[in-house]
Amino acid sequence: MLLEVDDLCVNYGRIEAIRNISFTIDEGEIVTLIGANGAGKTTTMKTVSGLRPVRQGTIKFQGQDITAMPPHERPVLGIAQSPEGRGCFIGMTVQENLDMGAYARPDRKSPKIGQDRDRVFGLFPRLAERRTQVAGTMSGGEQQMLAMGRALMANPKLLLLDEPSMGLAPKLIQQIFDIITEINNQGTTVLLVEQNAAQALKRADRAYILETGEIVREGSGKELANDPAVKAAYLGGD
Ligand code: ATP
Repeated sequence: MLLEVDDLCVNYGRIEAIRNISFTIDEGEIVTLIGANGAGKTTTMKTVSGLRPVRQGTIKFQGQDITAMPPHERPVLGIAQSPEGRGCFIGMTVQENLDMGAYARPDRKSPKIGQDRDRVFGLFPRLAERRTQVAGTMSGGEQQMLAMGRALMANPKLLLLDEPSMGLAPKLIQQIFDIITEINNQGTTVLLVEQNAAQALKRADRAYILETGEIVREGSGKELANDPAVKAAYLGGD
């Protein structure tokens, strides 16, 4: 098992954002968390990447207990997050942003970095065209691609994607999901948080449904996509 989350509780002060959630991610999978606004998806993501402290429960990565590990050490193990709201370094160029993504790698001075940058440019040709452009002047969709590209430069075993389709035009949404599938086909395990439940379930091997901080359903992406209750609640009833 790549990631094992057991009986996790996370609070913001007295607010219980996540209550007793348990889930697993196997190597090679795309797993998605689906839920309404405020269900606890981003909190779960932030807790796996170490940005929120755990009140109760454990997180294991490749069998190692990382529950209390500081966030900057997790990329070294192979966990990288592409955050909601992009979070690019707006004053830096595309290439500089990508290189920042490799900071935690022990091999960051090796030619492998150049190969991985080429891989990112292969996945996102738009970034290749714009490699000297300052990130802050790029469109929202381009910055979203850059945030994903930067996370990939950590060469992660587990890529955490928080709302990668947020704010994108429909054509670009399709493209981003195709790229996620391609990243997964190239060997990276993905934890995907999405409001776009239809696309996420279509692409995911397995899915968990979060409601007000608790996991209420789990199943294969296909099974949940065809479930009448899930359809009514998350897929607009069609
Ligand atoms: P969305 O789809 O709207 O992004 P989400 O499922 O990602 O929602 P979270 O952002 O994880 O949900 O929020 C879970 C709960 O925790 C919500 O009730 C939210 O109001 C609360 N919460 C999140 N961040 C904070 C914070 N910094 N301080 C206090 N409460 C917070």
